[in-house]
Amino acid sequence: MLTSGLSKKQVLAELKKIRRLDQQYSDGKILCSMCTNPHPTAEKAYRLFLSSNLGDPGLFPGSVQLEKEVVCDLERLLHGENCVGHIVSGGTEANLTALLVARNIASVRAPEVVLPESAHFSFTKICRSLNLKPVYAGLNDSFEVDPKQVDECISENTIAVVGTAGTSELGIVDPIEAISQIVARHNVWLHVDAAFGGLVIPFLADAQRPFDFELEAVKSMTVDPHKMGMAAIPAGGILFRHAEALDFLMTETPYLTDQFQNTFAGTRSGAAVASTWAAFRSLGSEGYRKIVDKCMKTTRFLADGLTETGFALVTKPTLNILAFRSSEGTKRLAEKLREKGWFISYVPRYDCIRIVVMPHVKKRHAIAFLKDVAKIENL
Ligand code: PLP
Repeated sequence: MLTSGLSKKQVLAELKKIRRLDQQYSDGKILCSMCTNPHPTAEKAYRLFLSSNLGDPGLFPGSVQLEKEVVCDLERLLHGENCVGHIVSGGTEANLTALLVARNIASVRAPEVVLPESAHFSFTKICRSLNLKPVYAGLNDSFEVDPKQVDECISENTIAVVGTAGTSELGIVDPIEAISQIVARHNVWLHVDAAFGGLVIPFLADAQRPFDFELEAVKSMTVDPHKMGMAAIPAGGILFRHAEALDFLMTETPYLTDQFQNTFAGTRSGAAVASTWAAFRSLGSEGYRKIVDKCMKTTRFLADGLTETGFALVTKPTLNILAFRSSEGTKRLAEKLREKGWFISYVPRYDCIRIVVMPHVKKRHAIAFLKDVAKIENL
């Protein structure tokens, strides 16, 4: 901390210099991120609600109203009815909140959670934090969790089963319907992590298998507006089928405007909620359909380009996530691409290069990427 402050001009000049160290989505070189530039109106909305704290709701009834409306929007999108939920800091906190509730409701002595081997790494942190034993169910040849293995993993200590609708590495949607039939038989909580897919799958042109509250056994869902929802960070979403779920998080708040809080975080960003509201209202379902359609077209363009050049796709993309391998060495290709300024992920588990085709990835960027890949491989 400086002894005396700098002028606004000095501060902003310094920040602009430092900001240049950050990558910009608009450069089109970021092919590994699940976030993107917020919708322009979402950005404005964020600034408008900058000081709003949903942790002290009596002071910010307007922001509380916006959160209710956004939760309602998500509920309708995901075939829910009378759901409750919150906009939280992201998918990690949303998944944590779901498992915290499931654990508190189940109240078993040595709690376990059944996870697909492809579950997001946030569950590793969550299991550590909540002292849950993770029990992993394997995947089938299509990289979906195998329902039979899920069945075998469930024990009397299972407090929840997790399925993913849009895995982070390959964009796979687990067979949630088959899992829901299994959990219903065992009477176990089913949480669907649709952090990424929740704002993609409903807008895909082709019909999809049911993955959301349409399935009676689904008790909670994660769906993040700060990923494909074009809202500003931090906007994750957690929804519960039954209103009572939140009672299991109730904590007394002795000095705030409300007597109780039922979120994990205390201070919460009203700005993120306003930005989500603004993105939803500005785009509407037609706007999201167009965005998803464009991302899928670019994904297919990249997939076709890569296969025509001789690369092998790990699997046909379901969502706007693509993974491929090179017979000449995938890790080496990933390093060369990085040297050329591309930000892609190398995923050791599948020995593949992973690309997330977010709205900032345009066709011209895909063309430039294909050219660079071919050049590196001398094709
Ligand atoms: N779940 C899935 C499927 C994800 O893809 C991610 C992040 O990419 C998360 C959870 C964690 O979300 P966050 O990084 O917003 O905490």
